[in-house]
Amino acid sequence: MNVSRPGRTAQLPQPRSAELYERACRVIPGGVNSPVRAFRAVGGTPLFIARGSGSNIFDADGRSYLDFVGSWGPLIAGHAHPAVVSAVQEALARGTTYGAPCAAEVELAERLVAAYPAAEQVRFVSSGTEAVMSAIRVARAFTSRELIVKFAGCYHGHADHLLVAAGSGLATLGRPASAGVPAAFTGCTRVLPLDEETALEALFAAEGPGVAAVIIEPLPANHGLLPQRREFLARLRELTRAHGALLIFDEVISGFRLARGGAAELLGIAPDLATFGKVIGGGMPVGAFGGARAIMARLAPDGDTYQAGTLSGNPVAMAAGVATLDLLSRESAWQRLEARGAELERLVKPVLAAARFPVHLVRAGSLFWLSLHSAGAPRSAVSLTQQEAARFAALFHAMLERGVYLPPSAYETCFVSLAHSAADLARFTQALRESLAAVA
Ligand SMILES: *Cc1c(COP(=O)(O)O)cnc(C)c1O
Repeated sequence: MNVSRPGRTAQLPQPRSAELYERACRVIPGGVNSPVRAFRAVGGTPLFIARGSGSNIFDADGRSYLDFVGSWGPLIAGHAHPAVVSAVQEALARGTTYGAPCAAEVELAERLVAAYPAAEQVRFVSSGTEAVMSAIRVARAFTSRELIVKFAGCYHGHADHLLVAAGSGLATLGRPASAGVPAAFTGCTRVLPLDEETALEALFAAEGPGVAAVIIEPLPANHGLLPQRREFLARLRELTRAHGALLIFDEVISGFRLARGGAAELLGIAPDLATFGKVIGGGMPVGAFGGARAIMARLAPDGDTYQAGTLSGNPVAMAAGVATLDLLSRESAWQRLEARGAELERLVKPVLAAARFPVHLVRAGSLFWLSLHSAGAPRSAVSLTQQEAARFAALFHAMLERGVYLPPSAYETCFVSLAHSAADLARFTQALRESLAAVA
């Protein structure tokens, strides 16, 4: 198993993946349809996945990997869960889309509204990005204000006005983190550091009357995992309310993952609007946003705020979502996921303590992050040094060699699913022990 190969791009030979990647690069920019998949942060060739089953994925060359990416969050029940697959098959046989209302939309909406009290009404879209774009539009319409406040390190999809200090991007006031984004678009965006009440207070003192909404991942999980102090989020709730600004919780990752009622339930803090995605689509393209009835009433056709989608509320995607949420409730998933996360923590902590360089485990329920920050796991967006990032790249490849698939970036959170068994967690721990020893 321990094939030694030069450089940090050490990887077992995967001729089918390599061939597919070469073909992909000719017809798809960078060979991928979402940049992080290209392995640029860790080097090497991305694996092309042929199928998934439970906690495992299988690449085009037939190798299997214990998967801790879970498609970046949606697969809370694991790959190809039988209940989800059969719900999708049944829906599929009735047609792929109607462009007219269907019962499954009502069924999924009822589940969301029942689980998340702050969302009295919801509307479905096809991605988390769209959910956030739409939530922001309705927040601006409702408040008749334009400014949006976000936090450095939080990712809210790739809409123009939020591509500032997103994910591992740099924390720069209102400066776009992507080419192609007019400064005018991000001119209405303010970026604050996480974990700093004084910065919040200063922003509201200076610009409070102009703030339409503050958007935050209540459990930031896109620049590593950065659990916030409850007092910080409570202060944010206080300040937004006092200044007539809306608070938007982006629960695209945390919704139905941390708890049935998302991070809002665990924190006991209710936002005005919330966005969902990932888990609620059971692996199909779905997003949703929801909030108080008075805010949502601003949306067309009742209100003056336009928002639409050809495939919004798609019957097959809705069926996958309903099946997923139902199996989560049936299997008391959230206690089980917490227990699994706790078991992983118990196994991994001593392994990390024995490592020759600093590695910190940050965990919230079934989400975990291996922080390689020598100074300790941060609570706000802190970049890794080159040396720390190089350690992650080496660790990633050492794990891959041992059949464990981690997210190919040091800033990405790992996902445990209901399909991960105690034996899987033990296997992960053993691979981590060996890999840490193999990283110079
Ligand atoms: C993934 C993610 C999004 C974007 O969702 P897409 O479906 O990728 O467009 C938005 N917000 C958060 C917190 C996310 O993690």
